[in-house]
Amino acid sequence: MAQIIDGRAIAREVLARTADEVAAMVAATGQAPGLAVILVGHDPASEVYVGRKVGQCRKAGIRSIEHRLPETTPEADLLALIDTLNADPAVHGILVQLPLPRAIDAGRVLDRIAPGKDVDGFHPVNVGRLSTGTGGLVPCTPLGIMMLIDTVIDDYRGLNVCVIGKSNIVGKPVSMLLLEREATVTVTHIETRDLPDIARKADIIVAAAGAPHLVRGYWVKPGAVVIDVGINRVTDPDGTTRIIGDCATHELDHARAVTPVPGGVGPMTIACLLANTVKAAKTAAIA
Ligand code: NAD
Repeated sequence: MAQIIDGRAIAREVLARTADEVAAMVAATGQAPGLAVILVGHDPASEVYVGRKVGQCRKAGIRSIEHRLPETTPEADLLALIDTLNADPAVHGILVQLPLPRAIDAGRVLDRIAPGKDVDGFHPVNVGRLSTGTGGLVPCTPLGIMMLIDTVIDDYRGLNVCVIGKSNIVGKPVSMLLLEREATVTVTHIETRDLPDIARKADIIVAAAGAPHLVRGYWVKPGAVVIDVGINRVTDPDGTTRIIGDCATHELDHARAVTPVPGGVGPMTIACLLANTVKAAKTAAIA
């Protein structure tokens, strides 16, 4: 039976450590780290994500400052708000909830955030730092994925990793983190040929495709570690909806360890956002 890597429990530990660090900062400086969260429009999923992020911030003692803007907000107004937050010393992290309304150029908006406050790690400066292994803020989901794998693997040197998906928010950054740890990383995607064969050679599989139960039992070699990043909403014949991952976990008894969906990677993402906010605040304090 594969070990289940309990993302909820590990996220709780990260949140507890973060809350301790916040308390220490408040004791030392009298100021809590501040995270500005910007939501443009009323996308229901985004409302839920922002609500969760703000709620967790409060629990950890991080000051969260919400900016809810109407769907029709001109891009120039959003950029002006970011400029104000960039200049505000009480704001250590800035998060723009994606997706943005179509009339706004998301790339331009993310590029405007000061790299030191870019707690999502999407700014080109942070992307460059990640790919050159020179620090910076790392995107939250990949950071959380590494923390999950770290609970079962100490030494990544020479291990074969198959990353499924090459997005800028998961596939590419997690590949960079794995390369830093001296793993041999194969990044695959929708056009990859013979994906099951590549996956079967891997000691670690990170599945971030957004394809329900793409990774089947025969794709996974005995003893491999399988990290399931996928979040796919499916509807059963009786009309009930549920969330499933990218991996057919019920076929993975021969794996060494797997992450469940839900309760695996998902909880780590918010925990890492808070950890990044504290990191940004500490870096600002010594700058
Ligand atoms: P994306 O759509 O930006 O990228 C998907 C990638 O997977 C692409 O590179 C595509 O080529 C590849 N792909 C798609 N179908 C494939 C297939 N059949 N075979 C091989 N490759 C395939 O997605 P994303 O933003 O990286 O997200 C991926 C999944 O992870 C989604 O389900 C998303 O909801 C989930 N996600 C979860 C979290 C979390 O916190 N748990 C965070 C981010 C994304």
